[in-house]
Amino acid sequence: MNIVNKIIRKLDRNIAHFASVKSKILSFETPVVSFTFDDCPRSAITVGSTILMDRGVSGTFYLCGGLTNGFENELPCQTEDDLAYLVENGHELASHLYNHKRCEELTKDELALEIELSKNYTNSITRNHEQLSFSYPFGSINLRAKKMISEQFLTGRGINPGINVGKLDLSCLKANALYEGQILKRDIASLIDKTVQRQGWLIFYTHDVQTSPSPYGVTPTTLEYAVDYAIQKNCKISSVSEVMNSFQ
Ligand SMILES: [Zn+2]
Repeated sequence: MNIVNKIIRKLDRNIAHFASVKSKILSFETPVVSFTFDDCPRSAITVGSTILMDRGVSGTFYLCGGLTNGFENELPCQTEDDLAYLVENGHELASHLYNHKRCEELTKDELALEIELSKNYTNSITRNHEQLSFSYPFGSINLRAKKMISEQFLTGRGINPGINVGKLDLSCLKANALYEGQILKRDIASLIDKTVQRQGWLIFYTHDVQTSPSPYGVTPTTLEYAVDYAIQKNCKISSVSEVMNSFQ
């Protein structure tokens, strides 16, 4: 890509982050925390979902149908049995496009096809046709993608950190990386404390959950700490769709 195209893409990305495409003022009766997992590495399902279920709560799993029985970042992704297991246990299955492509690198038609394939695949597993939640692969966003996602999904979740409070950007919800090498327990506690003070909605995202995680994953101990700290601070822990459906 030449320098001019790079500058245009960066401008488009920045405009997308600030553009109000699907915004809504929502006020929460209690502070809320959501735990989300991108790409569905198997350890997110076998270990991550178990940590949530042990505490009686559920998470959101943003999956790519094209990664079923495949690998991403050298980690094995979901099987169809894994996805059925998540549904049976009350977790949310959500879209991360079908082939884990960057929205910025897709034409309008290519993105439309990715969305259609992803929705069809995910709905075939969940066996319902409720609007799905979505997260942008690699956090890649531009204005066209943001508009399309706002029309096709209940919410879009990005990777811009912060707490969702007041006027929420529903097509690019703020979310915070729960990556072992990038966040300390005191940072997690501070984010949750601020969510309580501001009565907002905090979303964490991660990938694998294992003792020696990838640079994009977390250890079971840190995930347990985050969930337990949120519970201790009387936050409600809900999947992304549960939060949105509570306003329907
Ligand atoms: Zn991803």
